[in-house]
Amino acid sequence: MIEIKDLHKSYKMGSNSLHVLKGINFSVAEGELVSIMGSSGSGKSTLLNILGMLDEADEGSYTLDGVAIKNLNEKIAARYRNKFLGFIFQSFNLISYKNALDNVALPLYYQGIKRGERIDKAMSYLEKVGLADWAGHLPNELSGGQKQRVAIARALASDPKVLLADEPTGALDSKTSYDVMNLIQEINDEGRTILVVTHEPDIAAMTKRIVNLKDGRIIQDTKVNQVRAQQNV
Ligand code: ADP
Ligand code: MG
Repeated sequence: MIEIKDLHKSYKMGSNSLHVLKGINFSVAEGELVSIMGSSGSGKSTLLNILGMLDEADEGSYTLDGVAIKNLNEKIAARYRNKFLGFIFQSFNLISYKNALDNVALPLYYQGIKRGERIDKAMSYLEKVGLADWAGHLPNELSGGQKQRVAIARALASDPKVLLADEPTGALDSKTSYDVMNLIQEINDEGRTILVVTHEPDIAAMTKRIVNLKDGRIIQDTKVNQVRAQQNV
């Protein structure tokens, strides 16, 4: 599903340059649930942003579902992003003046789906994350865990091949974090490929494979016996 080879990325800062990713090689097969672990500043978000086509590498290759991701114009990149990828962020990134249902329906608008069908689909995803009763509520009327569930429903709405989550539990307490990870596990059980960036070992332990990043290099890549959410509660 994902294949990257010898990926490098530097940030230019004036006359200086900060080498953040120093030759990353890894691949992710369809249906995997992988965590990318590492301390703050190790390059996790930089890597995820490149995988999410929000940023480009300086060197190396990236293939997503058989498509080489390189030198795409913004329009094609946006189309691939929409078709292949769903994003989940630490800070939820919901639109504050739209209710839960309209937040989930938004990606479908960009896909050109008609309003009636958008609403039906969005509602079915809200049901899936257990929030059908909250469809008419604004984000500021929801708890952190509920907001992240809405964000997950929104990420699923466009039926992406891969879900990319950057510290999805970073703003949540432990119990709520395990609930959110439980939902992520259920979505993965259905066969969806998911990458989760985290610096928390107990969150990484709930995935099936942990890729350890340190100073821009992968120092360890191990399959783990997935801890199911219930075991943590
Ligand atoms: P992580 O997500 O693991 O905390 P990041 O990928 O966000 O790490 O950042 C890796 C390094 O790159 C850090 O030293 C950070 O300060 C730097 N960095 C990240 N984004 C930028 C940017 N847009 N411009 C300059 N430096 C950046
Ligand atoms: Mg980060």
